[in-house]
Amino acid sequence: MATRYIPTIGLEVHVQLKTRSKMFCGCPVEYGASPNSHTCPVCLGYPGALPVMNEEALRMTALTGLMLNCQVAERCKFDRKNYFYPDMPKNYQISQYDIPICLGGGVPLHDLAYPKDAQKCILHPNKVVSLTRIHLEEDVAKSFHFETSTGIDFNRAGTPLMEIVSEPDIHTPEEAFAYLTSLQQILVYGDVSDADMEKGQMRCDCNVSVRPEGTDALGTKIEIKNMNSISGVRRALAYEIQRQIDVLSAGGSLAQETRRWDDATGQTNLMRIKESAHDYRYFPEPDLLPVDTTVFMDEVRRRRPELPAEKRHRFVSDYGITDYDATVMASDRALAAYFESAAKTSAKPKSLSNWILNDLQSALAASEKTIAECPVTASQLDELVGIVDKGVINGKQAKEVFAEMFASSKSAAAVVEEKGLKQESDLGAIESLCSQAIEANPKAVAEYHAGKAASINFLKGQVMKLSQGKANPALIGDILVKLLS
Ligand SMILES: [Zn+2]
Repeated sequence: MATRYIPTIGLEVHVQLKTRSKMFCGCPVEYGASPNSHTCPVCLGYPGALPVMNEEALRMTALTGLMLNCQVAERCKFDRKNYFYPDMPKNYQISQYDIPICLGGGVPLHDLAYPKDAQKCILHPNKVVSLTRIHLEEDVAKSFHFETSTGIDFNRAGTPLMEIVSEPDIHTPEEAFAYLTSLQQILVYGDVSDADMEKGQMRCDCNVSVRPEGTDALGTKIEIKNMNSISGVRRALAYEIQRQIDVLSAGGSLAQETRRWDDATGQTNLMRIKESAHDYRYFPEPDLLPVDTTVFMDEVRRRRPELPAEKRHRFVSDYGITDYDATVMASDRALAAYFESAAKTSAKPKSLSNWILNDLQSALAASEKTIAECPVTASQLDELVGIVDKGVINGKQAKEVFAEMFASSKSAAAVVEEKGLKQESDLGAIESLCSQAIEANPKAVAEYHAGKAASINFLKGQVMKLSQGKANPALIGDILVKLLS
């Protein structure tokens, strides 16, 4: 029988913090600025230039630690990681070695964070992936490779970078996907990063090995570098796990190496073989004092937001919406804020959530708009919900009104008025239409009296026709029954 293999995955995620200035100098942090426009002697690594700590970056990292249940160290320090690399002119990077700012903690995975096609078969629901540590360092410059030369942009050099290291606690590509999705949501909730992988604000290195089932020792660890999309991570891991299993099953052996994912060919390719662990000759950064985090932790605790899981539970209990709807809503901070801005005063929060998750989401997708660009405000949408609830218009008309609201940003009442959609709810008017229908359809009336209750639906249809679709259907039924008794 063929041996079964168990994959083991650990992820290192680099996150660009949303500070206004760089980690150790006053240069602005700005995505997309013209190359080398945000530099100074500190971030260009001039000899003798002295770093000055950006306290906001420390606070954001500590906040991330609080959100992920880490222990935040009372004292941490910075170290020099020495190496030669063209994108690091100092020949060292200021990082944290043995006393990082955060230890332990974990990332809770929720069901909807898994890829859609994997949500039906989640192996370990409510799993929490353990973290090893979170530390803070400075980012390096960015190289651009042209045909015959390489250009270096130092705008990114020295920007604050948080590294979140997981334990080898992940066992499938789908769990890795859920981990990154959940982590990204929490970072956005805390406003510490926009965590957009396409913009390089969140980057991921994967460590993956396989071992035969029934053995304890981990297999040879292979690293996949610089992944820039969550779905790419899933594909790369699936490919790499199968590649390793194929090599081992054919009697081959694996070397510890670093590979690169090529999304176009769907393969990982060898970058370099790791002959030995790098010796970075870490030593304490002599230009920076150790950091006492206790001086700002009270403020950081006050900044801790309600997290996606907490919001989900509160939405269910406060607004009576389903757990599924609450999970979808809480997965997106902006969507949750949209819902809640009207749900607080809504008479029908459950209907409001239905409208948001169905019609509104589809309209946004079709017009390629984000919730921030939504032409219908939450209170306008709730007004529509109220109008339907009061029976002023029916469900079919409501869809028409919504489409017009989305196109024009007009209020529901204004669209109903303009289109002359108001349901006829005047009892006298409906009663006269009902009498007309009864008079014109003696056969249906006779059948109704003979006990065929469904005949009343035919009469209802006739009244609706006479009213040109505007009569309130609930009222028609009541009046017909009364007149026929
Ligand atoms: Zn600078």
